[in-house]
Amino acid sequence: MRIGVLALQGAVTEHIVSIEKTGAVGVAIKRVEQLEDVQGLIIPGGESTTIGKLMRKYGFIEAIRNFSDQNKPIFGTCAGMIVLAKVISGGEQGHLELMDITVARNAFGRQRESFECDLEVKGISAPVRAVFIRAPLIEMVGPGVEVLTVYKDEIVTARQGHLLAASFHPELTDDYRLHQYFADMVMASMATEQ
Ligand code: GLN
Repeated sequence: MRIGVLALQGAVTEHIVSIEKTGAVGVAIKRVEQLEDVQGLIIPGGESTTIGKLMRKYGFIEAIRNFSDQNKPIFGTCAGMIVLAKVISGGEQGHLELMDITVARNAFGRQRESFECDLEVKGISAPVRAVFIRAPLIEMVGPGVEVLTVYKDEIVTARQGHLLAASFHPELTDDYRLHQYFADMVMASMATEQ
């Protein structure tokens, strides 16, 4: 099983290391054609405006929408979650607009620009270590979206069928269970395809 990490900007190598801990092969995706060789895709953290611009420039908006139309799983972390969202709060234009969530950028305030904590994630047995860096949060979810984590009354992990989104950086700790959760989604989608 091969899982891609969109490699236009942001934390790519760390995601590949975490993917490989699950036993899957991690592939840095730099060109749209490479999407044909992977069964799942991670969109990493970084800076969502920059990632969005580069995605437009290199044809990734249409290519990833197409990937999603085939029910292939996509996992957006931090800036990647913003890129996946249908609506960005405050009127900024969305990017992929695939997942039925409304996100607010840099939502945790200046004094809390960066912090770590342990979070309960629905479907994972013990708390997951999470690193938040100028993180977004999910303000609203549509009817088909399942909330997986609430932190201090805010939604920070959610899933809509084959789409998964997290406000934080699961790739910056040794805890790869969220990557395992995603790898299981990819495995399940491959099983239904055959
Ligand atoms: N603040 C960034 C943005 O709005 C996201 C930060 C991150 O990915 N660590 O794009």
